[in-house]
Amino acid sequence: MTDTLKKYLFEDRQVKVQIAELRDTWRHAQSHVQYPPTVRKLLGELVAAATLLAGNLKLDGSLVLQMHGDGPISLLVVECRGDLSLRATVKLREDHELPEDGTLQSLLNTHGKGRFIVVLDPRDKLPGQTAYQGVVPLEGETVAEVLEHYMLASEQLDTRLWLAADDAKATGVLLQRLPGEGGHGTDTQLASNDLDAWDRACHLAGTLKAEELLSTDSDTIIRRLFWEESLLAFEPLPVRWHCPCSKQKVADMLRMLGAKEVESILEERGKVDVTCDFCGKPYSFDPVDCAELFLGDPLKPAEDGSGTPTLH
Ligand SMILES: [Zn+2]
Repeated sequence: MTDTLKKYLFEDRQVKVQIAELRDTWRHAQSHVQYPPTVRKLLGELVAAATLLAGNLKLDGSLVLQMHGDGPISLLVVECRGDLSLRATVKLREDHELPEDGTLQSLLNTHGKGRFIVVLDPRDKLPGQTAYQGVVPLEGETVAEVLEHYMLASEQLDTRLWLAADDAKATGVLLQRLPGEGGHGTDTQLASNDLDAWDRACHLAGTLKAEELLSTDSDTIIRRLFWEESLLAFEPLPVRWHCPCSKQKVADMLRMLGAKEVESILEERGKVDVTCDFCGKPYSFDPVDCAELFLGDPLKPAEDGSGTPTLH
């Protein structure tokens, strides 16, 4: 098991510690496209963050983290399911220069209109149920800071993240202060002894640098940071890359585009080629395939899907 999410609890159950270490999954995310280093770092950190947060999903479904940018980067998106299978991609604006020393703010929030969107999408929706969506401005200099702001503002949860990514590894540590639980409140001795557990955990992890995260395995990092603490360790969870795209889902997307649009692409190119944004898998629809798309529904009006990520 090369890619894992490991979870721990401080003995008093006031602080949750998690560490994600992704190599194969992260390699897959870059297998069909060469991202510039600044973009790769941001996406890798978002991949690690999504893994850490999806590890706490209470619903059977997906967690989608999207950073919509108004600068050189139009979109960073990671979709992580409850079983910790994930996919991720980036959309760049073709007419924008990508400065080598670009930061999250300069690449995504150039005009202050960048947005961070969190979607919780249940797999089997009940009638009338829709995906939960939270939208906040892109506040913070790093992916970790954006996430920390979101967690505090939307979930009222003190969360600290240390994230890092290079071409070989996407990794991160999460600390979360857990709300007081029944049972511990009556044990004043224990409560007073561990009043500072959260501060202590933050202080210990505060020494973590990106280089250390990238060059050290997760067990060693946890040992180095918390060797004086009593941690309850849970079974490591496997993380993997998985893109659920299919010809059927691309067909549904072409139907949304509408018969007219598909017709005009056919006239121009003789077939319709679609490449999955996430995994790079090509799908080709010849004139016969295209005709079948609209059988029985030739005049279905086009729905405007422009600007939305193709989550097919
Ligand atoms: Zn795909």
